[in-house]
Amino acid sequence: MSTKRWILCAFVFISCVLASSHRPLDENQLFVQDVLQSDGKDYCKPYGQIRDTCCDYQSVESIQSDTFSKIQALVQSKFFKYYKLNLWRECPFWNDDGLCMNRDCSVATTDESLLPEEWRQDALGALQMSPKGSAFQPFKVCTYKDQDFCVADDPSDQDVVYVNLLDNPERFTGYTGPSAGKVWQAIYEENCFNIVHKMSEGCPTCSAISPVPSNSPPLGPLLQDLAGPTGDDGDDEVCLEKRVYYRLISGLHSSISIHICDEYFDRTTGQWGPNLDCFVNRIGAHPERLQNIYFTYAVVLRAVTKLDDYLAQYPFQTGDVAEDEKTKILIHDLISSTKDCPATFDEKTMFQGADSRSLYVEFRDHFRNVSRIMDCVGCEKCRLWGKLQTTGLGTALKVLFAYEDKSLSYRSNPRLLNHNEVVALFNTFNRLSESLEAIQKFRKMYADRLAPPPQQRQLAQTVGDWLKWLLDGARTMAHKLIKLGQLPVPSFLDDPLEPLDPL
Ligand SMILES: Cc1cc2nc3c(=O)[nH]c(=O)nc-3n(C[C@H](O)[C@H](O)[C@H](O)COP(=O)(O)OP(=O)(O)OC[C@H]3O[C@@H](n4cnc5c(N)ncnc54)[C@H](O)[C@@H]3O)c2cc1C
Repeated sequence: MSTKRWILCAFVFISCVLASSHRPLDENQLFVQDVLQSDGKDYCKPYGQIRDTCCDYQSVESIQSDTFSKIQALVQSKFFKYYKLNLWRECPFWNDDGLCMNRDCSVATTDESLLPEEWRQDALGALQMSPKGSAFQPFKVCTYKDQDFCVADDPSDQDVVYVNLLDNPERFTGYTGPSAGKVWQAIYEENCFNIVHKMSEGCPTCSAISPVPSNSPPLGPLLQDLAGPTGDDGDDEVCLEKRVYYRLISGLHSSISIHICDEYFDRTTGQWGPNLDCFVNRIGAHPERLQNIYFTYAVVLRAVTKLDDYLAQYPFQTGDVAEDEKTKILIHDLISSTKDCPATFDEKTMFQGADSRSLYVEFRDHFRNVSRIMDCVGCEKCRLWGKLQTTGLGTALKVLFAYEDKSLSYRSNPRLLNHNEVVALFNTFNRLSESLEAIQKFRKMYADRLAPPPQQRQLAQTVGDWLKWLLDGARTMAHKLIKLGQLPVPSFLDDPLEPLDPL
């Protein structure tokens, strides 16, 4: 080996030792590097047109950055921070395995007496009870209309509570294993048109299924099959409507996963914070999941934009006229800033074929089922956000597909959306916006991890310079001694007269 190579190897060796002494390359890091093969700068940054939408990834990122502070302000306002739901409805599809008992799974509910009178349960109850002594029993409220994509909780139910969303952030709770797996399985396998395997064809990262928890024999084959072949209808190409459906569900799933990773609890340090390895495993290594979240954002944004006129007339009734007015301004300001851009999704392309009516009904009924499956989520906080986000997504679908444009005005259709639907839609939009924001954070963390920290780079450089100087000196000395004829020429100095190349 020539002297130059020795020096180079020494330099590389020292850099590696320094880098690894500070941060060992663990399995996940190697996995990150193997899978993604990027220099870190553009990690998880998709380019080009988002399939089945009218926009590209860059436009979505730019709308997101223009609107982020506005949607954040909106969801902190009085009207938008409270959500009403039944957290304890029984799972209608299978016997529940019981609720997750982790502290982080629990939800703090809000004392109704602190809320505006119009929102309170007793006000609703009074409306829906029949007079005392009447032969009629309180009627069972039908919780959905033909146009609805979700089965909502019965607002007169005694178990319905208000929750302050700001006090109960969606984040890592530790809810995992058979219960969580069964819910996702029911959503994908039974309510996703049986197309999961088709959506993952030719996509190597789609088959990277997480290991199945070993303590669940009946669920053994559960997740392994998610991306594998299932009986299908034989169509080669999945139609637009089914693709859209799958992408919305997958985008929602990605968003939930990103929030888990963004607010992760590190048991060793006892700290909450972003966990890059979690993000890489759940999202970064699966580009299609990343793309689906941009897709879902584009669809929900389109629904929000279409509601501008309707919400300008909407009675927010926060119990404070000034607050009502402030809410209207915040919404208008948010929606106006999205209107500068072309529409992100063209809902008119959907349900146009020969079988459009049956496809529409199937699409809507599958989604209604997904909203009911949320009562099977075995962790209160996950259930809260699962119910809210399926209601938000269902509201977006209703706005886009169940009504003609002319019916989206408060004057012609005041009952288009109820309180909960408006709250859910905007909070879901905020969750998706936060996910896109978190992707940028993880992109930066990834780049930082691949680059050695600045002090290490500097130290490695200094040591390298010093080593080079030492070897140069030794060689000059040896050279002089050889010239004086006092030493034989050693093999490693076979190029004695050549100067060393700079490293
Ligand atoms: C409705 C709901 C809400 C939840 N909310 C929370 C929460 O707030 N906090 C919390 O800590 N946990 C929550 N969980 C649990 C969490 O989603 C995971 O189930 C759990 O962390 C275990 O993750 P996993 O890596 O095993 O894969 P999972 O996320 O459980 O995914 C199951 C399988 O689905 C496939 N898959 C994963 N992501 C996608 C995608 N984006 N698109 C298509 N296919 C995909 C993969 O094959 C994967 O193996 C929730 C679960 C549900 C069902």
